[in-house]
Amino acid sequence: MRYYSTNLSSEPVSFSQALLKGQAPDKGLYMPETIPVLAEEAILGFTGKTYDEIAFEVAWPYLAGAIGEDELHRIVKEAYDFDVPLEHVGARKYVMRLDQGPTASFKDFAARMMGRLMQYYLKLEGKKLLILTATSGDTGSAVANAFYGLDNIELVVLFPRAEVTDRQRKQMTTLGKNVRVLALDAKFDDCQALVKQAFADPDLDHLSLSSANSINIGRLIPQIVYYFYAFSRLRLENHPEKTIFSVPSGNFGDMMGGLLAMKMGLPVKKIIIATNANDAFPGFLRTGKYSKIEPSRNCISSAMNVGHPSNLARVVALYGGVMDELGTMHKPADMDLMRKELFSVSIPDEQTRETIRHAYQANKLMLEPHGAVGWAGLKEYFKANPDQDLEDQLCISLETAHPAKFPDEIQRLLGIVPTLPKSLEGLDGKKEIYEELPNNYPDFKEYLLKQS
Ligand SMILES: *Cc1c(COP(=O)(O)O)cnc(C)c1O
Repeated sequence: MRYYSTNLSSEPVSFSQALLKGQAPDKGLYMPETIPVLAEEAILGFTGKTYDEIAFEVAWPYLAGAIGEDELHRIVKEAYDFDVPLEHVGARKYVMRLDQGPTASFKDFAARMMGRLMQYYLKLEGKKLLILTATSGDTGSAVANAFYGLDNIELVVLFPRAEVTDRQRKQMTTLGKNVRVLALDAKFDDCQALVKQAFADPDLDHLSLSSANSINIGRLIPQIVYYFYAFSRLRLENHPEKTIFSVPSGNFGDMMGGLLAMKMGLPVKKIIIATNANDAFPGFLRTGKYSKIEPSRNCISSAMNVGHPSNLARVVALYGGVMDELGTMHKPADMDLMRKELFSVSIPDEQTRETIRHAYQANKLMLEPHGAVGWAGLKEYFKANPDQDLEDQLCISLETAHPAKFPDEIQRLLGIVPTLPKSLEGLDGKKEIYEELPNNYPDFKEYLLKQS
């Protein structure tokens, strides 16, 4: 399988090149040249398989020829050693909890597999990487945890001091070893800009910089798996019924996993793309005209405060269009097909809070702000389609973080403190190590040069 750039000006590359580079030289995103389609029997057969076995089957067509079978089996087995609960809410409506990994957000699914794949190729090629990641919270901790202790990889995480919670910070700063953490008195966008400037700086070429953010194809492939998994556990017997998924979305990496699953043959009726007040995509789907939200809007579902979803170029590519990294359309996408397959809605904070309250009171369903946006998106879909009989329709809404990551909001709304998952226990007693850096490029550059 070769990977092409969505900007169409760079040469197609192998999987390992796409993985280690992150972004294509023409600033496009790597996409597989063809989408592999799984046979219906294979998909129905997933019901008898474990999560890591399904992960192998889904990833294999993307990686065949790029890695040995045994090696991939080992990687997925190591990466997926935690539960993926499907919580029954009522009728045939479920919440898939993707919060049981070591940092309690769905980012663990991608980071753990990507880290291991990167290490495999680096060892093979005798190379080292210095990975730079700017984070608004969850990416930094998931990547830090997944890359912690790996040979051949040094990680530098930049975070905006005021924008991450104590718990999120401690998940990054209590690790040590090959994980270095920098606190900046800056916005997330400033951290991101410093990282981008470093990538473009020829003086740093010898450091082999790479990124672990959501544009990396190595993060996308693992995110296809849990859609197949959920279906395999909840479908009716001998019946490939079509499923509705609702996905709380920011940079659109998660929903791209669902979209690829559908294109690979998973029986999907609709994918609901639920955003917070950053509503660039719902507007695009409605009008066919794209305009990003600038600056992005601050909402309580903070990991989704994205004004211009970076994976949108991939969505557009799947529908035959071309969109560059700035959001300019160079070739229109098939909007009719997109509207048939996707539904998108923007959920304001007030409705998110109301959803958290109502879900708990009516169904004893505990949601945090991101998952609540997804759940509210599903409700909006029902409202928009009163003619459909949705009572017996299988619907799965994704919960992307553990409620204990947002204790203040939950306590305010529900009057209870969510119980800490095992993964978050004991953080308070651990020693934090991080450096502080001023928000300017020369200091950051000097810091990086000292690392080599
Ligand atoms: C990153 C994140 C999201 C958004 O996922 P995208 O792939 O960027 O759309 C949603 N919820 C949580 C908790 C996250 O950390």
